[in-house]
Amino acid sequence: MALTAEWAAAWLRECARVMTEHRSELIELDRAIGDADHGENMHRGFAAVAEKLNAAEAASTPGEVLKLSAMTLMSTVGGAAGPLYGTAFLRAATGLGDAAEVDADAVVVMLTAARDGVVARGKAEPGDKTMVDAWTPAVEAAETSVSAGASAAEALKAAANAAQAGAAATEPLIARKGRASYLGERSAGHRDPGAVSTGLILQAAADSAGDML
Ligand code: ADP
Ligand code: MG
Repeated sequence: MALTAEWAAAWLRECARVMTEHRSELIELDRAIGDADHGENMHRGFAAVAEKLNAAEAASTPGEVLKLSAMTLMSTVGGAAGPLYGTAFLRAATGLGDAAEVDADAVVVMLTAARDGVVARGKAEPGDKTMVDAWTPAVEAAETSVSAGASAAEALKAAANAAQAGAAATEPLIARKGRASYLGERSAGHRDPGAVSTGLILQAAADSAGDML
């Protein structure tokens, strides 16, 4: 089945659910190399998105859902993650335009736009131990799978798996951007919380798409 506005709303509601479920885990990851607020930031931000979606009239395109989510994340999530995810969702919305459905090629466009937005905003490169280390392999995996004929849902699954592997691979890295970079070499040995939350967001996208099949 096609990925419509209904899918996008289901994705964001699933984000709210998983951020609540993983709130403590993300807090502990951020306690190790930051200021222990990432879990609360994500939980609060996506809960606000879910509320906004419930209150608003049903959107007619996936892009509209992502834009509403972006605005809500920017205004409710403090710290580095709010503007970064806000920009990611806003650029993703712009990438989708007013298309009624997200097909396999549009998954690549959407993820590329989101990753480019995070990079434009935060200026991190791959290997800096940030969420870019989850977004970049996700984009690459989506591209590879779509070139090989994957469906939109399959491309999201490939992206989610790659994001999670990318998040795991941040563990030995030394942070060069964000609050964790203040720790220098002591940041090694812990996963980056934002890379982990990116894995959760993309897993939620894939799961919601899977439910629509
Ligand atoms: P803060 O660091 O302000 O407390 P959060 O704890 O909510 O904000 O988010 C921290 C996460 O933000 C990090 O784990 C990292 O993934 C991401 N991050 C921080 N700075 C950058 C940056 N310049 N580029 C990309 N991601 C970043
Ligand atoms: Mg923090």
